[in-house]
Amino acid sequence: MSDNTGNNHNPPEEKQCRICLDGPEAERELGKLIRPCLCKGSISYVHVQCLQKWRTISTSKSAFFSCPQCHYKYRFARTRMVGLASNPVLVGGLSGFFFTLIVMLASYVTTYFMAAFEEPTTSSYFSSVFFVSPLEVAQDLVVAALRILKEGSIDGLLDDTITPTATSGSGRRPGRPLRPPSNPGFVRRFIKRFLLGLPLVGAGSLVHMLLSVGYLVPVQWLARYRGNRNRRDNSRDLAALIVVALLVMGTLRALLKVYQLTQMVTHRLLLRAEDAIVEVA
Ligand SMILES: [Zn+2]
Ligand SMILES: [Zn+2]
Repeated sequence: MSDNTGNNHNPPEEKQCRICLDGPEAERELGKLIRPCLCKGSISYVHVQCLQKWRTISTSKSAFFSCPQCHYKYRFARTRMVGLASNPVLVGGLSGFFFTLIVMLASYVTTYFMAAFEEPTTSSYFSSVFFVSPLEVAQDLVVAALRILKEGSIDGLLDDTITPTATSGSGRRPGRPLRPPSNPGFVRRFIKRFLLGLPLVGAGSLVHMLLSVGYLVPVQWLARYRGNRNRRDNSRDLAALIVVALLVMGTLRALLKVYQLTQMVTHRLLLRAEDAIVEVA
């Protein structure tokens, strides 16, 4: 590629930044003059900070990684970082960790407000027709979910004072030990916590999603219908199915959001750590 800046009055050996046009005298302020790519002549040099700034504000995405003139891909001091930032295993693992953390927090919130969750929300039928509070819908959903969990086969998991005979599950063989002798109950406690937290996460995510669409009222009716205690019939089990399906949807959405957020944050963090462009030999 030819020298297209036309700086004929400058001696070719004098270094000059191709962006700010200053020379080595500005190195204290703008960083070292380097040759980051294969461009020749008066456009071969650039201040480290001029290049960084230009890379980040450029509208072209490829300008972040390569020279728009010679298309040379900048070499970074820690190229492994860029690989890590887009590594699905790392991002997935981190997201899983964060998601578990969120569910655990949610489970403690649920336990803390358990008394409130025990009672369905008290607003009247008419007020819920005209105004529905997202918080109440979430609460109704959690109430319904907790009730479904209690009535379901995982009942024993939610019971703190559990004894091995209390969970005579349907397909359990009589001679089999219920839990491993070592580290008793840790996995069980973890699963219990996780199950307790999931409804809140799912409900929160679902309500957040429905807020923009305006389907909160039917969902609340459904949740209240299912959440009301002491009555079970087939239609309620269908309602339970729908509530569970909605919550699973909300939970999956939350998981996706966590993944996207983790991806964005790791990408930004790792790329920030990654600003040492290496000079071309
Ligand atoms: Zn410069
Ligand atoms: Zn170049």
